[in-house]
Amino acid sequence: MYLRLNEEQKMIQKTVRKFVEKELMPLEPDVLRKEREGKPGITPEQKKELQSKAKHLGFWGINTPAEYGGANLGQMMQAIVAMELARTFVPFNFGGYADNILYYGNEQQKKKYLIPTINGDRISCFAFTEPGAGSDTRRIGMRAEKDGNEWVLNGEKVFITNGNEADFAMVFAVTDKQQQGQGGGVTCFLVDRDMGWKSEYIHTMGEWGPASLIFENVRVPEENILGELHGGYQLGLEWIGFARWIVGARAVGAAERLLQMAIDYAKQRVTFGQPIAERQAIQWMIADSAVEIEAARWLVFHAAWMLDQGMDNRHYASMAKLFGANMGNRVVDRVLQIHGGMGYTKELPIERWYREARLWRIYDGTDEIQRLIISRNLLKGHVKLGESM
Ligand SMILES: Cc1cc2nc3c(=O)[nH]c(=O)nc-3n(C[C@H](O)[C@H](O)[C@H](O)COP(=O)(O)OP(=O)(O)OC[C@H]3O[C@@H](n4cnc5c(N)ncnc54)[C@H](O)[C@@H]3O)c2cc1C
Repeated sequence: MYLRLNEEQKMIQKTVRKFVEKELMPLEPDVLRKEREGKPGITPEQKKELQSKAKHLGFWGINTPAEYGGANLGQMMQAIVAMELARTFVPFNFGGYADNILYYGNEQQKKKYLIPTINGDRISCFAFTEPGAGSDTRRIGMRAEKDGNEWVLNGEKVFITNGNEADFAMVFAVTDKQQQGQGGGVTCFLVDRDMGWKSEYIHTMGEWGPASLIFENVRVPEENILGELHGGYQLGLEWIGFARWIVGARAVGAAERLLQMAIDYAKQRVTFGQPIAERQAIQWMIADSAVEIEAARWLVFHAAWMLDQGMDNRHYASMAKLFGANMGNRVVDRVLQIHGGMGYTKELPIERWYREARLWRIYDGTDEIQRLIISRNLLKGHVKLGESM
């Protein structure tokens, strides 16, 4: 056991950090200004330009298999990169990535959906949640009825990230009511926007909004089924499970940057004749935050490392998500407190992060659902205490 990043990991971490400091952080004032005017923080053209700069540095398809032009660096690297990118709130991701479940497509589907998504020519969205089914994914009600060699989709999806921008959606619909609820009876369809679904922007407390997707007699050819007929539920769980621990990684990166802001501010803000950094009340907030960031980092690395070893990491991914998301919320709250009134203003990005962090505890499985998974694993004996190493 060697509890340090290896030389390659350190080198990549350093390069991404430099990229973030040189290319992204200078955009922060502009991003804040644009968002306050109700516009996206960066334009698609800016994003493409930044992605092409990153590509020159080798940051393209971090986890995409080499046969699709990616670097295939593994999950630890993915965790490190996610932490580094989260040190800024500039909405940016390296390109060359596609949803994990698109790799289950057949050759024709890969050509039409997977490869253009990796190349950044198409935008996907993952549409599982419905007005009547969020945490309880087994309750989805969207119906797909067979008609000749087409399926007719009717229903509504909500809170779909990228739902306004996507030109195709991975849509989960009930194809066999009898099997539904036992992990079957649901099928995943690849549905192009021009097949007829509509999206509506949902305003949130964050700076970007997901969408409702409306399906009214949308006809989808049989060949657009992703994976097996009635086998979509497992694909959905696989997608959700993969994204989970990345939320923890993002929380670590953001919290670290925020804590540094609080340390810098505490050293220069003088009250009653002394910098507030001299006060124990402030020191304790800094210390507690540093300890929690460190704990979250190791939970995330553990979850990522397990995946790289081909191990089932679901229990630990839930821990990394639950603790990371809550740690991020506690840290941003303390950092805001240390900044006093300034922390509450829109002069600084803290209030923006504060609003964003609240989402971490909700999507990709709420706090309560992570607790339910962790405790169920222990109560049923799927995972034994003290056997994680
Ligand atoms: C900004 C944003 C982006 C999103 N992006 C996507 C996306 O791209 N694709 C997608 O499909 N979905 C997406 N979601 C949906 C998200 O995954 C759900 O909102 C989330 O899973 C919770 O579901 P819900 O909102 O229906 O809450 P509910 O399931 O109705 O839960 C309400 C409350 O009850 C609690 N609760 C529920 N069941 C239990 C239980 N058994 N025990 C204890 N407490 C319980 C919950 O934790 C929560 O506190 C997104 C949501 C948001 C806000």
